[in-house]
Amino acid sequence: MSEAYDVVVIGGGIHGTGVAQAAACEGYSVLLLEQYSLASGTSSRSSKLIHGGLRYLEGYDFGLVRESLHERDILLNIAPDLVHLRPFHIPVYPDTSRRPLTLRTGLGLYAILGGLKHASRYRKLSRNEWDTLDGLDTRKLQVVYQYFDAQTNDAELTRAVMQSAIEFGATLGCPAEFLSASVGQHACEILYREDSHEKSCRARVLVNAGGPWVNTIAERISPLPARTAIDLVQGTHLILDGRLEKGCYYLEAPQDRRAIFLLPWGDQCLLGTTENLYSGDPMDVTPLQQEVDYLLETMQHYFPDRTQHVADMFAGVRVLPAADGAVFKRTRETRLPVDDSTQPRVLSIAGGKLTGYRATAQKVMKCLRHTLPARKPRADTSTVALKPVS
Ligand SMILES: Cc1cc2nc3c(=O)[nH]c(=O)nc-3n(C[C@H](O)[C@H](O)[C@H](O)COP(=O)(O)OP(=O)(O)OC[C@H]3O[C@@H](n4cnc5c(N)ncnc54)[C@H](O)[C@@H]3O)c2cc1C
Repeated sequence: MSEAYDVVVIGGGIHGTGVAQAAACEGYSVLLLEQYSLASGTSSRSSKLIHGGLRYLEGYDFGLVRESLHERDILLNIAPDLVHLRPFHIPVYPDTSRRPLTLRTGLGLYAILGGLKHASRYRKLSRNEWDTLDGLDTRKLQVVYQYFDAQTNDAELTRAVMQSAIEFGATLGCPAEFLSASVGQHACEILYREDSHEKSCRARVLVNAGGPWVNTIAERISPLPARTAIDLVQGTHLILDGRLEKGCYYLEAPQDRRAIFLLPWGDQCLLGTTENLYSGDPMDVTPLQQEVDYLLETMQHYFPDRTQHVADMFAGVRVLPAADGAVFKRTRETRLPVDDSTQPRVLSIAGGKLTGYRATAQKVMKCLRHTLPARKPRADTSTVALKPVS
């Protein structure tokens, strides 16, 4: 007889580990299958921000921003060793497209959506502070706004969430590749490969948290579960030599006015990101020369005297809803396609943010509430401390 679980999760990125933790905290038995290593996909290749997403206000995504700011506060509280509040600076020059009035309105709204808490404050820097800003070009500079958001190490956060899931009883299969599932009326029969052996197990529900592999995984499930039309979009970051002393910078790329972040990363700094449609295995994604040039031009534009030496670079693939038009303007909302049933056996997570992983996991558990039996909850993920895994 094969092992039986309440919940089997495919994918050991932030979403899969988040669902494993939420399900274990609700008292369910959980197995998570990760084909390579935890956070080996997108969850180690992000901009590593735990943020409300100031620029999503331009798309009127107020609900997403409010939820993300709320999640930021929770993570600052439960994971103080992993998530750190940082000052962000927005410089404005004559050719900056987002003018001071727009920025003040956006920052004011951001503060309100953040509950006007300490971390929501913003201000205009005085002129005598400009020269302390890590070499920012002050010629023609008109104003600099400062607000706060948070930064993490995405892979460490993912490992910490999995560790918490394990402490509440979840089992990790890693490396373990999900091969196929056959979905019946009462359970899913699952095949996976671990230690070169094919293994099987049963689950009441199957959660597809495959990130950019979400539809590849769906194709291995019979009958084919509900899917959502997606685009894969690659984003590149450069790690540049030189430390940033004053925090983070929110820049507008001179070429197309997209938002680019320059962020402290230990003794170095992280510059990103780009957005280019991608096809192929997400594991094979690599930075393109045009992305490197684009990012370095932005760096040169704002920080002409800082070194442009690229110590390292990486690319990751995000999932966005398929649509025409600019990738940059598409919503970052998470989609949770489920079969049209009051008792779904399979649920997929498409898109989403590192920041919102916990809220997404809560929504997943809510969708599955009528399929799973009642269990005695063990904990609430909004108060469970997350610690770095040594
Ligand atoms: C460039 C970039 C910058 C970003 N910046 C931010 C940011 O600053 N802040 C923010 O909040 N969000 C950010 N995001 C979004 C965020 O990183 C992603 O939403 C999140 O990491 C996705 O996590 P995931 O668990 O869905 O996918 P992944 O992390 O990709 O995890 C999916 C996992 O599934 C595994 N898998 C696939 N197939 C199988 C199989 N058959 N069997 C077993 N396992 C399998 C993979 O190996 C992988 O580990 C960014 C995204 C990108 C691309």
